[in-house]
Amino acid sequence: MQFIDFHTHQKTAEGVITPRSFGIHPWHVGEETATSPDELYDKYHSNLRDAEIIGECGLDKLHENISRQQQIFEWQLIIAERMQKPVVVHCVRCFNELTSLRKRYRSTPWVVHGFTGTTQLAQQLERIGIGISFGAALIDSKKAKVMETFRNYDGPFLLETDTAECGIEAVYHAAATIKGIGLNELSDMLNNNYNKLIYNKNA
Ligand SMILES: [Zn+2]
Repeated sequence: MQFIDFHTHQKTAEGVITPRSFGIHPWHVGEETATSPDELYDKYHSNLRDAEIIGECGLDKLHENISRQQQIFEWQLIIAERMQKPVVVHCVRCFNELTSLRKRYRSTPWVVHGFTGTTQLAQQLERIGIGISFGAALIDSKKAKVMETFRNYDGPFLLETDTAECGIEAVYHAAATIKGIGLNELSDMLNNNYNKLIYNKNA
């Protein structure tokens, strides 16, 4: 069976597909010295060229430098459009900002990783062409709200391990249980979702 780990900071196991990504995380914008999108592009050109996905990048209200975060995120959105690559988004308490940015940068797919919001928010994002990815919260019994969102959300989603120490198989198992479907059905669903959310392709 084919596993797709959409976003991870761990070394991926054999037989697990993880798209290569490169970006400036909102927690690290304080160390970034670039003064324009062109400078950012030139500085990281080879990393950006090798990446299938730009990111993770985004906005995090619980971290400092929010105006610099916005600047660096927007520059990466500009670069993603220029290179026609999808974006993996880190978004903490900044969904209004994300929604208004989406109105200006619409030509490549975006997926918010580590989604822990409500079903309603998930549906709002889907309507403006932003996908979501669920992580190890699905195997954490303390995260009942995320499980409820996941159970109720019927749009396309991805799965990931991010910084969790579990393997993606454990996340698949939990996801299949919550959705009440078999592992093979889930795996097919994830392959279709990946094509749809990352390549705008329907199976
Ligand atoms: Zn993140």
